[in-house]
Amino acid sequence: MSIKEEIVNLKEELIQLRRDFHSHPELGFKEVRTSRIVEEYLQKLGLEVRMCAGTGVIGILTGAKEGKTILLRCDIDALPVEENTGLEFSSQNNGVMHACGHDGHTSMMMIAAKILSNHREDICGKIVFLFQPNEEDAGAEEMIKQGALQNPVPDAVCGLHIWSYIPTGTIGIIPGPIMASSYYFKVTITGRGGHGGAPHKTISPIDTAGHVLAAINSYHTYEQDSLKPTVISVGKIHSGQKEIIVPDILEMEGSIRCLHEDDEAVRKRFCEIVEGTCKAHRCECKIEFVCGNTLLNNDESMTRLVMDCAEKVVGRENILTKNISVMLGDDFAEFSRRIPGAYYFLGTGNEEKHTTYEHHNCKFNIDEDSLAIGVEMHVKSALSYLGVKIDE
Ligand SMILES: [Zn+2]
Ligand SMILES: [Zn+2]
Repeated sequence: MSIKEEIVNLKEELIQLRRDFHSHPELGFKEVRTSRIVEEYLQKLGLEVRMCAGTGVIGILTGAKEGKTILLRCDIDALPVEENTGLEFSSQNNGVMHACGHDGHTSMMMIAAKILSNHREDICGKIVFLFQPNEEDAGAEEMIKQGALQNPVPDAVCGLHIWSYIPTGTIGIIPGPIMASSYYFKVTITGRGGHGGAPHKTISPIDTAGHVLAAINSYHTYEQDSLKPTVISVGKIHSGQKEIIVPDILEMEGSIRCLHEDDEAVRKRFCEIVEGTCKAHRCECKIEFVCGNTLLNNDESMTRLVMDCAEKVVGRENILTKNISVMLGDDFAEFSRRIPGAYYFLGTGNEEKHTTYEHHNCKFNIDEDSLAIGVEMHVKSALSYLGVKIDE
């Protein structure tokens, strides 16, 4: 039986699993039910299973022969969104929804694990199935801190994201940067408060913030190379209590996203410009950064491997390489900056099935026909990396 046929035989289970997870979404690091189901499922398959970072699950399939180790990673968390899809298997948890497709990710990887474990005798090396909690807020780092990349140490990593922006039956992938890094900043500008009728006796952080905003925009337009995609946006400014008082302090928060490797230089210049502008206006400033995601940079040879698999699964004409990279991020980057990796988008967009809504939208849904394609990609990329030929 070919891998494709094996997947067809498991399609009902695949969809059932997805719908069950969809009805029971859980927020990051609280995926207790989800991870218990995954854990028991992998144990039944005879994998070596361990928990990691609370609700993370790692299943290890050891082939009959020696070889390399490949890590397949998926994410299992849902979002704080009130579902409005009208699906019969809608979320039963108020205010929580699988609005990013991670329900599909979890079920695809479980079925991939089932198929691959049936081929243990043919496999040389190891396949690590990693079910990661809290993708939406840096869960990968926590798993790595707690040893996810040890025992065994993987040689390579593959992962995918269901993607409503491209049609079902297509796969989007490119070598190099595919998803942006993001750093959240908080700038605290301190002046000297006083009477609104005597501003010359105060140092206004609000006035200074206006200059800071202008300086950031100038930097972005006139100094930053526009062929190196960079977004600097301010999402929150807070200062002041009353119209007749110049406040002491102002807080400004936003993010810097880069789809290139020079993100550190961008942050450095951002700091110089903000600090310099504040100084010119007699204010003190403090800048803090929190890393949202690092750059997701696809390894050349792993990308080629995934592309070769995609050619077998969806055909060369359905591999999309134009307009694929995005300024969004994924903490898959935490794995792929440590070991060679490839990350790709699995098309799920289908106008007739209303599956072209934005990710994180309350009407987001996936085309379940894309799930079998994802399973085949997982299975074939793992086998191909380990050099195992089953049905070719
Ligand atoms: Zn997602
Ligand atoms: Zn998401």
